[in-house]
Amino acid sequence: MMRVALFGGSFDPPHRGHLAIATAASDAFALDRVLFAPAARQPLKRDGHSASFDQRLTMCELACADADPVRFQASSVDAPLADGSPNYTVRTLELLTAQRPHARVFNLVGADTFQHLGKWREPCRLLQLAEWIVVSRPGVPLHYPEGLALTAAQRSRIHLLDQVHEDVSATELRHRLALGRRCDDMLPEPVAAYIAEHALYRTLIQ
Ligand code: ATP
Repeated sequence: MMRVALFGGSFDPPHRGHLAIATAASDAFALDRVLFAPAARQPLKRDGHSASFDQRLTMCELACADADPVRFQASSVDAPLADGSPNYTVRTLELLTAQRPHARVFNLVGADTFQHLGKWREPCRLLQLAEWIVVSRPGVPLHYPEGLALTAAQRSRIHLLDQVHEDVSATELRHRLALGRRCDDMLPEPVAAYIAEHALYRTLIQ
């Protein structure tokens, strides 16, 4: 049975932290495919991406091809919607599970994102549609979200992975790039080259 993980996010830009958690999750859960899916519009984040959807998708393609072209793949499943509405993960997972009725589907997130599960649209359905892989992030506790009374069955669909310690965030990267600093140590090489070539993140949108 094919094992596939949805890995959603802003990817503005994709960085070493993203690759570290995709690698750790693929290794720990024998994933055949991790889909890096930039969201055109994130329901819980303020609008105002620095890079366009197409640029973020291209950077994900570059990062995936560079890091692990067999297991990692960029996906346009969260492309802009015709009516301009945000991309809700519950809809994305419905689409993915319908497209792959025989796959074991996972949703991959960092610990910070997971803490807000209660604010997501249809949390119970989200846990039905996919097993969750939640990966540690420096400075963030790794545990089940507070305020959600999860049943034992729901908890059994959540896997906590406590072995990634990459202190990198896209916000910090954008700040550094806007100050003209190089960030090559935090970025896949082809992503750093793309950012330089397209003069991305020269000014801060905050
Ligand atoms: P921003 O700083 O713009 O909020 P980000 O660095 O958190 O961005 P996102 O694209 O929003 O990156 O993250 C996508 C997913 O990857 C989220 O589930 C997030 O928790 C996870 N993630 C990002 N960076 C790390 C990291 N360094 N360690 C663990 N998880 C991470």
